[in-house]
Amino acid sequence: MPKEFIATPRRTKEVLKKYGFSFKKSLGQNFIIDANILQNIIANVNITSSSGVIEIGPGIGSLTEQLALHSKKVLAFEIDQRLLPILDDTLAAYDNIQIIHEDVLKADLNEAIQLHLTDVTDVHLVANLPYYITTPILMSVLQQQTEIQSMTVMLQKEVAERMAAVPNTKAYGSLSIAVQYYTEASVVMDVPRTVFMPQPNVVSSVLKLEKRATPPVDVVNEEQFFSIVQACFVHRRKTIRNNLLNYFKEQYEKEEIKQILDTTGIDGIRRGESLTMDEFAKLANAFASQ
Ligand code: SAM
Repeated sequence: MPKEFIATPRRTKEVLKKYGFSFKKSLGQNFIIDANILQNIIANVNITSSSGVIEIGPGIGSLTEQLALHSKKVLAFEIDQRLLPILDDTLAAYDNIQIIHEDVLKADLNEAIQLHLTDVTDVHLVANLPYYITTPILMSVLQQQTEIQSMTVMLQKEVAERMAAVPNTKAYGSLSIAVQYYTEASVVMDVPRTVFMPQPNVVSSVLKLEKRATPPVDVVNEEQFFSIVQACFVHRRKTIRNNLLNYFKEQYEKEEIKQILDTTGIDGIRRGESLTMDEFAKLANAFASQ
């Protein structure tokens, strides 16, 4: 156990000064300076000393250090080359961390897991995500279908709420369906701006996504399912009938859309935000059987 963790204001300032490091806003660099918050986050992930952990964006290593202390091996992807010598220095005491200098959006996670996380019992992703690309990162990980069992990530509160939202709430939309099709999503806690350096403009939350073994609904054509969900939320205040008419005006006649809706028993005057995932699946499967 180190005398002082990396995640303190004093050590963070010391590291930044030693390397003359300046934050890049364009890379979403807001470092955590509170080890208690990190330990709280880790307590919410089911990791053990035999688990493997993937981290996105280690920064100067504050979360990486805590993950190394609580798991068997940490594999961290960092895009900013300037941080590599810093991480070599701050994490020198740990022999169970592998840093990969790569844009995580371009990474082949399955290959990385096979190469670097061989003798672990389970794999989890834990990250304080760069806020400019939270949704693309999460969707790319989900769609790659990896061994990752859970993802526990810090992101903007508003986005976390949208991802975990239930029907008939303001936050519920196509993002909620996309995320919940692959995972069970829950907001674990809110995190104040004061635990970051520099402080972001927004409040953050920790979101936990647990991978589902199979999707909660049966859809005939996934791509079409997601298009229909998207279509129903284009204008939140419009009825699903009007949204569908608008979205599919090149492909379907008004009468055809009416007939499809009739076969599902879903009232066309409802709004997208009132439809459950089951109902969206029913609607999409009715379109697929046309
Ligand atoms: N984990 C550190 C912490 O909690 O203090 C830093 C988190 S900071 C919010 C986000 C980190 O992600 C930065 O280190 C940034 O350079 C890195 N990053 C940004 N875009 C990335 C990308 N596309 N791939 C990998 N890392 C990225």
